[in-house]
Amino acid sequence: MTLIFSGNDYKYELEGVMKLFIPASLFKHVYADSIETDDDYIFAREKSFGDYTLLYVIASAEGLKAHKAHIVRKSDCGLDSDKELIMSRLLFSVMHKITGKSSKWGVITGIRPVKRVNAMLSEAMDKEQIFTVLKEKYLCSDEKCELSYLTALTQRSAIEALKERSFSLYVSIPFCPTRCSYCSFVSQSVEGSMKLIPEYLNKLCEEIRYTGSLTKKLGLTLDTVYFGGGTPTTLTAPQLERLMRVIAESFDMSTVREYTIEAGRPDTITEEKLKAIKAHGCSRISINPQTLNDSVLEAIGRKHTSEQFYDSFSLARKTGFDVINTDVIAGLPTDTPESFRHTIDELIRLSPENITVHTLSIKRSARINQSGDRSVLDNPAAEMVEYANEKLLAAGYRPYYLYRQKNMLDNLENIGWAKQGCESLYNIYIMEEIQTILAMGAGGSTKLVDLAGHRLTRVFNYKFPLEYNKHFDLMIKKKNEIEEFYAEKE
Ligand code: SF4
Repeated sequence: MTLIFSGNDYKYELEGVMKLFIPASLFKHVYADSIETDDDYIFAREKSFGDYTLLYVIASAEGLKAHKAHIVRKSDCGLDSDKELIMSRLLFSVMHKITGKSSKWGVITGIRPVKRVNAMLSEAMDKEQIFTVLKEKYLCSDEKCELSYLTALTQRSAIEALKERSFSLYVSIPFCPTRCSYCSFVSQSVEGSMKLIPEYLNKLCEEIRYTGSLTKKLGLTLDTVYFGGGTPTTLTAPQLERLMRVIAESFDMSTVREYTIEAGRPDTITEEKLKAIKAHGCSRISINPQTLNDSVLEAIGRKHTSEQFYDSFSLARKTGFDVINTDVIAGLPTDTPESFRHTIDELIRLSPENITVHTLSIKRSARINQSGDRSVLDNPAAEMVEYANEKLLAAGYRPYYLYRQKNMLDNLENIGWAKQGCESLYNIYIMEEIQTILAMGAGGSTKLVDLAGHRLTRVFNYKFPLEYNKHFDLMIKKKNEIEEFYAEKE
C-alpha cells in the first residue's frame, strides 16, 4: 500500500489510521502532487487557495475507490494539528467505505486516550462537552467515551494528590526464567544469561546510589517505587534483599506512598522471596497468570501451571500483601471465549485488589509473529474484553488506567481495574505522564516531567544487560541531563 502526501506531511497520523483498517501492513510513503502507482494507495492532498484550504483524500484498495473532501477557512483552522485531524477523519471515512470496517476509538490512534479526557477535565469541561469533542472530533464510539471518561474520573484523586518535585523510581530486572512466545520484551532468559546477573546487580546498585545522592542534591522526594521486568523475582531472595537495602540506604523512604514488585511469573515466587520483599516495605505485588487454562499456558510457552498461580497468590496473601495485581491477556492463541470467561470469573472469586486486562498485541519481534502463523489474529478478543468489562464493573472494580499499543487485536486496549482506593499511583502517573520517573537498569527510560513548562525529556539507559554492564560509566555521564533539566526548570 502506497501513501501519497501532497502539500502536507501527516505521515504519522494517517499511517496510524490506515493501520486500523489494514493492520500489520507495511506502507510506502511518497511525496508527490499526482498519483503514479499501480499499487493500492491513498492520496492525501492539502491545497490553499485564497482564504481557504481544501483537504481531500482519495483511496484505492481491494479493487474499490472512494474519496472525500473538506474545505476550511484559514482563519478558522490555521494549525497543522487541526488540519491533520480533519484529514484523519476524511481517511477514516473513505477506508470505512472501502473495507466496511470501523474502530470504536475512531481516529484516536495514540497510546494514551485518557490524557485527552484529563486535559478537558482540567479545563472544567463537563461530561456532555467532553463526549461531544470525543465523538465529533475523534469519531469515538459511546462505549469508548464512557470507558475513557470513567477511567479519568477514577484517576482524579491520585492526580490531585500528586506533589511538586516528587518522583517515582523504576528498577528494571530484565531477566526471565524462560521466554514466552508472545513476548517482545527485552528480557533475557536466565538459562542464557545467568552469568550476567552478578555484575548487573553491582552496576544497578551503583546507579541507585548515584541517583539517590543526585535526588538529594536536587531536593526531590521519592513517591513510589516500582520493580519491573522481565520478572524481578527471577532473582534470588538475597539478591532482592540486597537491592532493596541499597534503595533504603540511598533514599528517604519516609515519603514513599507505594512500593510495587512485578513478580509476574508464579513459578519464580517462593516464601523466602516474598518475606524478603515484604520486610523492605514493598506492599503491592503483581502475580500474573495471563490465563487459568493450562493448555493455553502451554501453547504460549509460559512454563507454569494455573495451580502454581493459585499457590503463589495464597502465599502472597499469607505473607501480608494487601494489594495484589493479576494480569490476564484476551486473545491468546488457542484460548476460547469460554475459557477466558472462566479465567475472569476465577480472578473475581479470588478478589485481588487490581486486575489488569491486556489485549494481545502482535509485536514484530515476538516468536509467535516470526512463526508466520497469522491465525492468531483471528481471535474473538473483543468478545472477551466485553465480558471482562461487564463482569469487573458489576464486581465493583473501576478502570483506573488505560493504554493502547500497536497491532492490538481488534484495535482494543489494556485496562487496569482496581477496587476503590487501591489504584496504583505509579501506573496512573506513568501513563498520564505527569510525574518524573527515574529509571534504573538496562532498558530503563527516565522521563523528566515539567508540567508547568509543558516539557517531557527522556534519558535512555542501554537496552541490554550486556551493554549496560559494559558501558556503564558512559551511561552514568549522560545522567547529567537530569541535573540540567532541573536547573532549566528553576
Ligand atoms: S514473563 Fe513476561 S517479560 Fe518474561 S518472557 Fe514472559 S511475557 Fe516476556
